Amino acid sequence: MADRTKLIAGNWKMNGQRADGLALARALAEKAGQQHACDLLVCPPFTLIATVAEALAGSRIEVGGQDCHPLPTGAHTGSISAEMLRDAGCRYAIVGHSERRHGLGETDGDIHEKALAAWRAGLVAIVCVGEIHAEREAGRAVSVVEGQIIGSVPHGAFAGNLIVAYEPVWAIGTGLTPTLEDIAEIHGAIRPHLPAGTRILYGGSVNPKNAAEILGLDEVDGALVGGASLKADDFWAIAQACR
Ligand code: PEP
Repeated sequence: MADRTKLIAGNWKMNGQRADGLALARALAEKAGQQHACDLLVCPPFTLIATVAEALAGSRIEVGGQDCHPLPTGAHTGSISAEMLRDAGCRYAIVGHSERRHGLGETDGDIHEKALAAWRAGLVAIVCVGEIHAEREAGRAVSVVEGQIIGSVPHGAFAGNLIVAYEPVWAIGTGLTPTLEDIAEIHGAIRPHLPAGTRILYGGSVNPKNAAEILGLDEVDGALVGGASLKADDFWAIAQACR
């Protein structure tokens, strides 16, 4: 039977100097020594990956990148390849986060290439999808997300190399969340498009107060957490909500 142990993943985004990253990683490593029922992952900014990976070595917390370039090497100023992420200590790469889809104009095609790059380097691709507010208002959330899955997830996916994160764009960093019924509806619509056992995370304003009810949904296999992942106590409280 497929392992759908819940995963709590922290996306630190563009936050943290070396001292902050180290302090957060050490605090999390200490907490992760206690009993917990989920897998744990942190995705620091590129500059902190090696430092954080070293601080978390021997803990049960994995490290991921927040993006990767489709190519392994070359003249791509400012970019980082999946192979570089792997070399720095990553086992996962987020691709297609809405701050890149909508903020930087990345297309489903770009994300498809990046997921392939993650696999080429031996990383698990965390493919993010989610509708904007106007699409939800227009009753198009399910079709938009299904289209993103079809366009972004390459052939060759299986439960061991792919995780999907459903993150409604309007819920990211806003304190707003969809209803539990709406989360369950989207996760249920995505599932038939994915290989058996693929974990589908929910992301968008998850915090210690709402984590238990969201993670309590059968359809939800974990959370991608932004703001609340920057505080060790909050991230740990969310992890503790996995039962
Ligand atoms: C995110 O950026 O992936 C995210 C879910 O952010 P937040 O938890 O802050 O809404």
